[in-house]
Amino acid sequence: MQIQRFSGGFFFDDSSNRLKELFKVNQTEVVRFEPEFVAIPFDQHIGAPNKLVVAIGDQVQKGQIIAKSSADISGHVHSSITGTVVEVCEVPALGENTQTAAIIRRNQSKNHTESLIDANFSYEKAVRAAGIVGLGGATFPTHVKLNPADHIDVQTIILNGAECEPFIASDDFLMQKESHKILRGGEIAREILEAKEILVGIEKDKPKAIAAMEKAANKVKNCRIVPLPVKYPQGGEGQLLETLIAAESPLDGRSVETGAFTINVATAFAIAESVDERKSLTHRYVTITGDVKKPQVIYFPLGTRVKDLIDACDGFYGTPSRIIHGGPMMGKTITDLDFPLTKGSNAIIVFNEEHDGKVTESPCIRCNRCVEVCPVRLEPQNIDLAYRNDDLFTCDQLLATACINCGCCTYVCPARRNLAANITKAGAAIKNEKEALEDAK
Ligand code: SF4
Ligand code: SF4
Repeated sequence: MQIQRFSGGFFFDDSSNRLKELFKVNQTEVVRFEPEFVAIPFDQHIGAPNKLVVAIGDQVQKGQIIAKSSADISGHVHSSITGTVVEVCEVPALGENTQTAAIIRRNQSKNHTESLIDANFSYEKAVRAAGIVGLGGATFPTHVKLNPADHIDVQTIILNGAECEPFIASDDFLMQKESHKILRGGEIAREILEAKEILVGIEKDKPKAIAAMEKAANKVKNCRIVPLPVKYPQGGEGQLLETLIAAESPLDGRSVETGAFTINVATAFAIAESVDERKSLTHRYVTITGDVKKPQVIYFPLGTRVKDLIDACDGFYGTPSRIIHGGPMMGKTITDLDFPLTKGSNAIIVFNEEHDGKVTESPCIRCNRCVEVCPVRLEPQNIDLAYRNDDLFTCDQLLATACINCGCCTYVCPARRNLAANITKAGAAIKNEKEALEDAK
């Protein structure tokens, strides 16, 4: 099977509404998947690399640290099953890269969960010990985010349940099933940051999630569920702040400067589990949809391979042409079905040959549509052009690093130019150059 490489944004024809129906997840019960093997990458966060602390042949428990974080901006990685470390090797990563992972084989006779987080730990220490990172896709360590600079006065905790990318239902399902725990995570964040209120933003097309969260919110002081317009990218931090508290988020991404602290609902859920149940982050919900025979949301142990989850959905429907990790707008194509899902995984979407909108780039016609849709008011066509000319200086002047990689510019471009992917690459190159300059000082 040939799986095309792709990065940022996604082209599909105007059958997207039909696809929404076809790819819809209809389920009421939690589906748990427990594979025989997991491949757990050591680094599943933004920040400094972890150090492997187990060896081949070691017996590990579910929840035990296998890759330890030492720097502040990093997060421990734990075993997601009880078993034996059978190999340490390279496994597929996003793009053309590989990553180092511990392969763990399940011990069928022992699958108990033991609390491995010290009962005396403070809230902040428990969150750090659990290895929690932003589960909305950012994977920034949550314990760092919960410790903003002294001058910042956080008034509002915002729980992001927008889940605005098409086809994804992971947070929707989580909110229906775990509303109390999600709000408990919000309360813990509120206590740590001494904030006043909790706001939960959920797009209006998730009525079951809104109903469940409203019911749970009745028991929480100063907590409101706010139904949001169904509009991509409503779940972007800046867009959410604009809608919920009419605040403009700084372009450098430090949205907490507005006095609002935003986390995804799945992160809030993980915070509650770490504090109240002393559980490490070992599992999460993922939507497996698109051209698979049985689209569903699955609760899976971190390190589960894509191919095992596709099998759990009764296999492909038709001949797969493109498989995306994440949503169709911001996700990235994966090229190897051995790819293991990690903390940052919320969806796998399969497009078969019939539904994969293949396109060819043509020259920019200066129509300005990309500028009109950009939620952070950038000039995508000019950044793209500068990047193609290897002109990172101009990319920097045009604020390429402020791009939130929403993919809107790519989606609307009539010339089908791969704007979002190039702008993301430009932003990464600028950051690398600046870091190298800092290191050289
Ligand atoms: S340039 Fe703007 S529209 Fe394009 S991906 Fe970045 S933020 Fe989105
Ligand atoms: S939308 Fe495409 S064609 Fe139009 S200005 Fe932007 S890059 Fe050029």
